[in-house]
Amino acid sequence: MRGMSRLTRSIQVGAVRIGGGAPVSIQCMAKADPADVDTIVRQLREARAAGCDIGRIAVPDLAAARTIPRVRAEGGLPIVADVHFDHRLAVEAARQGADGLRVNPGNLGGKDALRAVVAAAAERGIPIRVGVNSGSMPRQGGRAVEASAERMVETALTWVSEIEALGHPRIKVSMKSFHLAELDAANRRFAAASDVPLHLGVTEAGPPLAGSVRSAAGLAPLLRDGIGETVRVSLSAPPALEVRAARLLLQALGLRRGPQVVSCPTCGRTRVDLSPVAERVEALLESLGLPLTVAVMGCEVNGPGEARAADCGIAFGAGGKGLLFAAGQVLGPPWPNAELEEALRAYLGERARAAREGVEHG
Ligand code: SF4
Repeated sequence: MRGMSRLTRSIQVGAVRIGGGAPVSIQCMAKADPADVDTIVRQLREARAAGCDIGRIAVPDLAAARTIPRVRAEGGLPIVADVHFDHRLAVEAARQGADGLRVNPGNLGGKDALRAVVAAAAERGIPIRVGVNSGSMPRQGGRAVEASAERMVETALTWVSEIEALGHPRIKVSMKSFHLAELDAANRRFAAASDVPLHLGVTEAGPPLAGSVRSAAGLAPLLRDGIGETVRVSLSAPPALEVRAARLLLQALGLRRGPQVVSCPTCGRTRVDLSPVAERVEALLESLGLPLTVAVMGCEVNGPGEARAADCGIAFGAGGKGLLFAAGQVLGPPWPNAELEEALRAYLGERARAAREGVEHG
C-alpha cells in the first residue's frame, strides 16, 4: 500500500497528468543516434506497448530538435526533450512541439539563457523538469550523505524559485543518485519542502538485473511512502525493458495493474521444465495486454492453492496430469501435463477475444 501521498501540484506532459493524485507514470529514454529516427520511433513504440506513458529523447543539436514532430506522431508517446549546455536547443525543441523539457538550469549558460527557455516553455504551456544529479563520488558516512542530499535539495529549490519567479509554475524535479541513501534523503527532504512533483530514478543503475534490483531497492521505500509522481528505471538495456522493470515495480507496490505471472521457484518435485513455460506464458500475456495475474506452478504441493488465488493458472501434477484454474475454480477435466500449457494459452486467447469484444468473463 502507498502511504499518505503528499498532494503535489499537477502538471501535464501531453495527455499524461503528473502529480495532483494522478497514478504514478512511467518514463523511458530512447537510445539511438538522434538522426536515426526510425530506430527511435521503433523503441518508443515498443516502450509504449510495454506500458510506458512518456518518452524522452536526447536533443544534442538542432537537427535532433527538428525530428520531434515525427517522433511524436509516430512513436505514440508524449515527448520530453533532454537538453544540455545550449539553451537554444531547448527553445527549438519547444517550438517543434515537445511536450516537456528536461534541463539542468546550471549548465544552460546563465540567467538570460534560462529566461529564454522558460519563455519558450510558457508560450507552449509545457513543463520543465529540473534535473539535479549528484556526482559519482561515493559518500562516506551518514553526515556526508545528509550534506550532499541537502545540497541537491537546495539547488533544486533555488531553480524552482527562479523558474516560478519567471511566471512558470509547471515544473517537476528529479534528484537522481547512484547512492540509495542519498537518493532517499534528497527526495524525502524535497517532498517535505515543496509541492513540486518528483521524477524518481537511480542514475546509471546498471545492466538489466543489477539495475532493476538497485532501482527497486531505491525507489520502493519512497513510492511506498507516497513520494514520487513519475519514475524511470535507467538500465543499460532497450527502453522497453526499462519500462517493464518500472511497471513490475509499480505492480509489486500495488500502484498499477498489469500482466503478471506468478510462478514457483521449482524444486525437486517439479513435474515439467517449468521456467520456459513461465517465460512463454509471460510473453503471451504481455502480447495480449491482459492485466491478469496468471499462476504457473510446478506440482500439486502449492500449485492448486496459488493457481486458485490468481485470475487463472495451471498446476502441473502427479500421474502425468495437471489442472487449469480460472477465477478460483477448476476448469474442465485434468489435462495431460504435456497439454496443460496449450490449454492455458487457449483460455487466455479466449479472454483476450472477449476483452476486445467487451464481453464479461467469469
Ligand atoms: S509448487 Fe511444487 S514444484 Fe514448485 S516449488 Fe513448490 S513444491 Fe516445488
